[in-house]
Amino acid sequence: MSVGDAKHPLRVAIIGSGPSGFYAAEHLLSHDGLNVQVEMFDRLPTPFGLVRAGVAPDHPKIKSVTRVFDKVAANPNFCFRGNVEFGRNIEHEDLLEYFHAVIYCVGARSDRRLGIAREYLPGSHGASDFVGWYNASPDQRNLTFDFSGERVVVVGNGNVAMDVARVLMLPPEELAATDIGGHALRALSANKVREVTILGRRGPAQAAFTYRELRELAERNDIDVIVDPADMQLDPHSLHDTSHSADRGRDQVLDLLRELSERGDRGHDRRIVFRFLVSPVEIVGTNRVEGVDVVHNDLYRGNNGELRARATDRHEIVPADIVFRAIGYQGVALPGVPFDPITATIPNDRGRVIDSLTGQPREGEYVAGWIKRGPNGIIGTNKPDAQETVEMLVEDLRAGRMRKEVLSPEVFNRFLSQRQGEVVSFDDWKFLDSLEVAKGEELGRPRLKFARVENMLRVLRHRDKS
Ligand code: NAP
Repeated sequence: MSVGDAKHPLRVAIIGSGPSGFYAAEHLLSHDGLNVQVEMFDRLPTPFGLVRAGVAPDHPKIKSVTRVFDKVAANPNFCFRGNVEFGRNIEHEDLLEYFHAVIYCVGARSDRRLGIAREYLPGSHGASDFVGWYNASPDQRNLTFDFSGERVVVVGNGNVAMDVARVLMLPPEELAATDIGGHALRALSANKVREVTILGRRGPAQAAFTYRELRELAERNDIDVIVDPADMQLDPHSLHDTSHSADRGRDQVLDLLRELSERGDRGHDRRIVFRFLVSPVEIVGTNRVEGVDVVHNDLYRGNNGELRARATDRHEIVPADIVFRAIGYQGVALPGVPFDPITATIPNDRGRVIDSLTGQPREGEYVAGWIKRGPNGIIGTNKPDAQETVEMLVEDLRAGRMRKEVLSPEVFNRFLSQRQGEVVSFDDWKFLDSLEVAKGEELGRPRLKFARVENMLRVLRHRDKS
């Protein structure tokens, strides 16, 4: 017998249904001459990971990638199993009994830490919590944010910082035209925020946000975008780098920031202020956030040639009623799976999971996406990333480096139904999806998302009875 031939399908479990999981499934299912059955697990009843819970609600085009994933899910050799949590309903050892291979595609759920005093003072939030909350993720549904103050500080210079700033500034009618969670729409429509200050620890030439996201802010004619002209006088290192290396995206960002610095204050009621070369050293406040103590930085060249921020002795308090820390997502360890706490990823060689003790690849275990390479890149970056992983998996299969015997799908189904009585299928999800769209239509909105797992399961139970 040969696993993967016409008679003996290769059984692969994919943990996580975000972009890397779906791209891995797509590559497997379209692999030439490979008979494969893919089972995809997600701890939530809903698929698509950060496409549903991370992409900003006013960026519907980015979300349309789910049409590609729908096609993958329509393959008869694909099966979605939502509401099944790895480590709770199903363990690492179980998967090894029932599947020839497992691909961990769980992303990076947590926020990187700043490591400063009073980081978690009430009013200081990780951006991933805010993003999950406004996107109606059940994990964040019960969080509350106090938008009664006028001043917000966002720490970080990436696209998540831009999303957070923009969502806070969108007027209610624009928010209502998106699929933002109903609870978030109500809370944000009443928000009193007048000023969002975005703090970058390095200079404008090192900003991680992209031109498109900056332009989106710049083009708004209801808010001011403030850039200090002094910040656009680049330091000698940045000047050297910008004149010696071609980077169209960076140059476009710099040109637009320069333009904004010249445009200045147009007297709008609300504004976004970019501050560069400042790092938070502590959150200020007694019972809740009152500001951020920042130190001014200069830049020096590190051993790897990268420009790094270095604190000077100049400090300043930036007043704030609420702080969002948008300094990057962070991967979380899975029970029974190797984890590198420094990089917060699963150690791997081109997608093959590496055992922490032996330093050798673990048989039949693979990884793709943010938990493989760290939390960077756009959705499309996961396509080649997942492809590389699938290539390694198929290479191992062909070289006989994979277990041959696994328990049958029927035994697995029995086992799973004992562990989790309410597994959500892709058809179930499509039903929930149609309800969300219908409910949205009633309200003149693109969709109204379910934000609680129990509500989704209740609806599915009722449908099954009727
Ligand atoms: P990111 O792009 O890695 O940006 C993180 C930012 O936080 C950087 O500016 C970084 O500065 C800063 N930072 C890190 N540690 C810090 C510290 N201790 N103190 C102060 N600042 C610190 O991360 P992200 O914004 O979470 O985005 C994650 C990925 O998703 C990115 O690839 C992003 O492009 C993508 N994304 C895309 C979109 C979109 O396409 N519209 C939207 C959202 C996210 P340094 O550069 O100095 O390290």
